[in-house]
Amino acid sequence: MKSQKYLFKALLTPEGWLEQTVVTVDSLGKIESIKQYIADETIDERVEGYALPSFQNAHSHAFQYAMAGLAEYHEGQTDDFWSWRNAMYDLALRVSPEQLEAIATQLYAQMACMGYTAVAEFHYLHHQHNGKPFENTSEMGQSLMRAAQRAGLHLTLIPILYQQGGIHQPPTEKQRRFIHADIEDFFTLIESSKQASSTFERVNIGIGAHSIRSVNLDPLSRLVAYRLPNQAFHIHIAEQLKEVEDAQRNLRQRPVEWLFSNIEVDQHFHLVHATHITAKEMEMILTSRANVVICPSTEANLGDGIFPFNAFYAKNGNWSIGTDSHIGLNHLEELRWLDYGQRLIHHQRTSFIHQGQPDGAQNALISSWKGGRNAMGLSAAHFFEIGDYFDAVVIDASEPLIATTSLKHLCNTVLYAQNQSMIYGTISAGKWIVKQGKHQYAESIKKNFVETIRKMANR
Ligand code: ZN
Repeated sequence: MKSQKYLFKALLTPEGWLEQTVVTVDSLGKIESIKQYIADETIDERVEGYALPSFQNAHSHAFQYAMAGLAEYHEGQTDDFWSWRNAMYDLALRVSPEQLEAIATQLYAQMACMGYTAVAEFHYLHHQHNGKPFENTSEMGQSLMRAAQRAGLHLTLIPILYQQGGIHQPPTEKQRRFIHADIEDFFTLIESSKQASSTFERVNIGIGAHSIRSVNLDPLSRLVAYRLPNQAFHIHIAEQLKEVEDAQRNLRQRPVEWLFSNIEVDQHFHLVHATHITAKEMEMILTSRANVVICPSTEANLGDGIFPFNAFYAKNGNWSIGTDSHIGLNHLEELRWLDYGQRLIHHQRTSFIHQGQPDGAQNALISSWKGGRNAMGLSAAHFFEIGDYFDAVVIDASEPLIATTSLKHLCNTVLYAQNQSMIYGTISAGKWIVKQGKHQYAESIKKNFVETIRKMANR
């Protein structure tokens, strides 16, 4: 790729909107300069759009996209998180590496269409159908790496340690593809994943444990000690009330309380969900500067509960957004779900108002970007930093509501009055991967996905 000069109507910077902005991108897709347009300056592309930092998806289980919408046909029996989980296990038992690649490529391309350029994959589908490791230990992870590369996304692959079926319970037969009985085998997987990732330009490796249900204290401590400095550590926690009750019964503490009593939690920890926490547990998270990954559409879909966001954000808590089961893939909708849940509980309209900054949507976009970058284990100092890849979501300036909105109200219009046509395109590593709503490889990716799912015949 040769270097490229884009001119945008405006670009969001940490200091606010910069109008008539020229972004120069080098041959690798990294930002060389961001400057105001000078009359008669030569540029390569004049974009009738507003550039925002692209969205960061901090929690994904790619294979679950193949069952999106399928767990809503309720034939009389009660249906909750645990019955949904059974349906998910049935799918997990079937997916081959090739099928995973086809599913994830379609999913990631769809994410790109929605403005995402990075995804953190919480990956526990490690082994063959019979539960034995693949000859190539990180085979399933490598399917995800190729999928992200094809879709044009940055991937943070987070191999996940999973050892038990519940607290002090052996794993079930249906969990056999997830399980590493010996943590040394899991470390082998981590090293194999690292090695494989080195051949991809935009892949890095995180580390994590499935939950305090699935890993005992000793292996959890060893895993935490094994991580590299600055490596993101992810764990599901306190998503369901039953999980809290199980922890209280078997560990004599609530999940977050137990984690903080036993592990030195720091700013590199990403607590996924943390839905059911007490005020004391929230203080523990805030003091440690650990992050919470909120997945509003999945949490609503699964009937998890509502994270106490207002209190957490008011105290400057770090947070990000994940699409988790992919029942929803729209970052703006995730943010609206998060906000509206709080509005309905508190009868106030100011969930995203923060530190006196009155532009709620701008705060939400910036905070979720920073939290998302942390979740990837990437630098989160500023977005659109010189030397970083140029990753942007571009809002269509010709869309009627956008065309008539001042910069003062632009972010809020995008967030609260959004419809799909507002996204003109997505730039990843300096290059359009989605333009006018269409992914650059849409046809071939779709074809492969449809063929794969038809063969699986699970829908
Ligand atoms: Zn999850």
